[in-house]
Amino acid sequence: MYKTNAYAAQSETSPLAATTIPRREPTDRDVQIDILFCGICHSDLHSVRNEWKSIVPTVYPIVPGHEIVGRVAKVGSAVTRHKVGDLVGVGCLVDSDHTCPNCKDHLENLCPNQVLTFGSPDRHKTAPVTYGGYSGSVVVDEHFVLRVPTNLDLPGVAPLLCAGITTYSPLRRWGVTKGKRVGVMGLGGLGHMGVKFAHAFGAHTTVFTTSAGKAEDARRLGADEVIVSKDAGAMQQAAGTFDFLLDTIAADHDINAFLNLLKHDGTLCLVGAPQKPISVAAFTLLMGRRNLCGSNIGGIAETQEMLDFCGANNITADVEVIPMQQVNEAYDRIVKSDVKYRFAIDMASLKVQ
Ligand SMILES: [Zn+2]
Ligand SMILES: [Zn+2]
Repeated sequence: MYKTNAYAAQSETSPLAATTIPRREPTDRDVQIDILFCGICHSDLHSVRNEWKSIVPTVYPIVPGHEIVGRVAKVGSAVTRHKVGDLVGVGCLVDSDHTCPNCKDHLENLCPNQVLTFGSPDRHKTAPVTYGGYSGSVVVDEHFVLRVPTNLDLPGVAPLLCAGITTYSPLRRWGVTKGKRVGVMGLGGLGHMGVKFAHAFGAHTTVFTTSAGKAEDARRLGADEVIVSKDAGAMQQAAGTFDFLLDTIAADHDINAFLNLLKHDGTLCLVGAPQKPISVAAFTLLMGRRNLCGSNIGGIAETQEMLDFCGANNITADVEVIPMQQVNEAYDRIVKSDVKYRFAIDMASLKVQ
């Protein structure tokens, strides 16, 4: 075991603060990574503040972070996919059972025995639970370590590991391509990536937002059209015209107004997670033979495909880079949606704590 600097919260009411955490020495199959940047995902904040306690109560201390970009520092003797010095990434998963039908289908994100990057029981017993990317170094099974294209802006790569794959995967799964009309609901961390991908896939892309002030930025990100969802007339005019809608909204909203925008056999896919259950009027689905579904990150192979696509098309997230010491202020700003569109923590700042 070795120690590395990190930021952890000790309880649901305490801020994140400097500490040191243990990491295991790499086993044969492991890659040891010096972390360069870690994105801040909204789920980091939910977990730190124990806001999902009814579903997954947080174990303290918690070290969040699952949008990790770094450089390989050491590899185990059986590692074949990565070598010292490579730029690599780690997303939401660090292990799975490798044997269930979902893992065999390359859908580790749907494995019932998956190990999350932070907050899952630690199979290596280095600590009670896994510790995430708000730290100087991490050790991960090579299967869950991704190659990062060397031409991309590294802070902007970090959010691809969660926000990127969360939006890329459903757009691919439901066949978003040239000639399709696609809507992205909400323009935050997830939504801005959804717009970039839908545009890059060649679809006619519309952003739905409650604030007209976001229209210019939506177009800069690649939207062909912007509809203010509070404008009932504009919503009615768009009824029955969409092939696919990506719902990234985490706040309560009337989903029926959006289902009504789908063509027959069109699909609305949830990737945001409002706290309260969603109320769906059955007729809205029945009358257009419409589909309502959800999606959660993606498998490891597809995450690699997404990173390679981003490398080939020069796609990264729009980020504001902060030092680790500003993480608590960043959390307060995320709650107010005061960031365009994701924070990335520069881990060089951890060395000066
Ligand atoms: Zn995330
Ligand atoms: Zn599995």
